[in-house]
Amino acid sequence: MAHKKTLIHLARWVLPGSRPMIEDGGIAVERGHIIALGDKRDLLGLFVSKDMDIVDHGDAVLLPSLVNVHCHLEFSFAKDLIPTGLGFAKWLRRAMELKQQWIGNKNEAVKRAAIQALKEVVARGINTLGDVGNGSFGALAIDSLGKDVFCALNFREIIHPLPHDLNLPRLPDLPYGPCRKNTYSPHAVYTCSPDALRKIKDWCRGHGLPFSIHCSESMEEAELVRTARGPLADILAERGRKVDEFFRPARSSVELLHAVGALDPSTICVHCVHVDDRDVRLLSERGCYVCLCPRSNEFIGSGTAPVSRLFSAPGIKVCIGTDSLASNQDLSLFKEMKKLMDMAPDIHPEDIFRAATINGASALGLSGVVGCLEPGALSSFLVLEEGPPSQKEIFAHVCSWPEQSRLIHVRPFQGTDKTKRG
Ligand SMILES: [Zn+2]
Repeated sequence: MAHKKTLIHLARWVLPGSRPMIEDGGIAVERGHIIALGDKRDLLGLFVSKDMDIVDHGDAVLLPSLVNVHCHLEFSFAKDLIPTGLGFAKWLRRAMELKQQWIGNKNEAVKRAAIQALKEVVARGINTLGDVGNGSFGALAIDSLGKDVFCALNFREIIHPLPHDLNLPRLPDLPYGPCRKNTYSPHAVYTCSPDALRKIKDWCRGHGLPFSIHCSESMEEAELVRTARGPLADILAERGRKVDEFFRPARSSVELLHAVGALDPSTICVHCVHVDDRDVRLLSERGCYVCLCPRSNEFIGSGTAPVSRLFSAPGIKVCIGTDSLASNQDLSLFKEMKKLMDMAPDIHPEDIFRAATINGASALGLSGVVGCLEPGALSSFLVLEEGPPSQKEIFAHVCSWPEQSRLIHVRPFQGTDKTKRG
């Protein structure tokens, strides 16, 4: 019979994400999963007669591993190759140029960069990724970590003004468990026809999987959506894609998505920088996720999302992404949380913490598996080795944690969890 030793992690502060904070609490872990959590005394009482080990983290904070809802690992090779502040259209030109130079020509280097970026993702306390890619570099990098230890939704990106008889490319048929899934993501409303958007959304809905799309990211996108003209239309035309053939102007990207029936509670609108009150109302009424990537927006110079308005709109569930190393210095969610705190001092840091954990998990369809410390979830959690002076500051303390310093990332079947698999 398999060995079933229980490991109990105790700490002064436990933030389950899914329920209120527990002071002087802990979690019990067995075979890579959390089996109980609670107050220290109750927890120890539950396992008193069992074969258990105790790790007391002292004054530390225990919280779930973070969830990065939007990234493109395959673009990791572009780190430091694009200057900041170019504005979206220039940034896009440079990104496409690099893609052409690297992908297909330097595939080994592209793969190595993706693997290296993923290692850093893990070191920075993230154990779940929404990874968008045209190729399989991201999925290969994630596979290199082994099965059931790192969770991901691999979004196969569709970038095309596609004809009516859109055939979706085949997704890899892998024996993924509850922790890894494949789905599609249309790139944006200006590179996918309404028919393509509808077809992809129908597919996602039919398979019970999230639908994610770049939405209202830049001024250039807003211009193209309103007028079918501007620098993005020029870029498309240079690539032989006449905007007028697949696109009809709309008031906004959000409204266009609504018109094709793509807004619902399993849709993730990534960026939402240039959204107005009507857009926010629509997203709110449709119960969508909004994935904020504030440092990527700043890197490109594409504007500032109305963070407070989005967080406080009822119905909108905010989650967080880093986007790729082509538009960010690193893939740190702690830095994204800190950035959001600075941008929206009126928003409670607990809401920002939830965006990076439990909301991210539910956006990716992984509720109860990651993003919380609940029985049944993977034993994937962080230990911040020093707690705040008082309970009042706990969430601000977490959201402004200088990440890799004194951070222990305990992952299923790994780290201090010595439990053997199976
Ligand atoms: Zn992106």
